[in-house]
Amino acid sequence: MNKTTCQYCAGNGYVHVAVGGSETCHYCEGTGVEKDEMVIKQ
Ligand SMILES: [Zn+2]
Repeated sequence: MNKTTCQYCAGNGYVHVAVGGSETCHYCEGTGVEKDEMVIKQ
């Protein structure tokens, strides 16, 4: 288990936008986990 919380949405899976409301975090695609963890090998 080496999941890294997405720093962009703080693991929420969504981000607040200026226009009001929120949208799915495009950085982690709503998973709340950084994609970078995919390339980490143990
Ligand atoms: Zn995210």
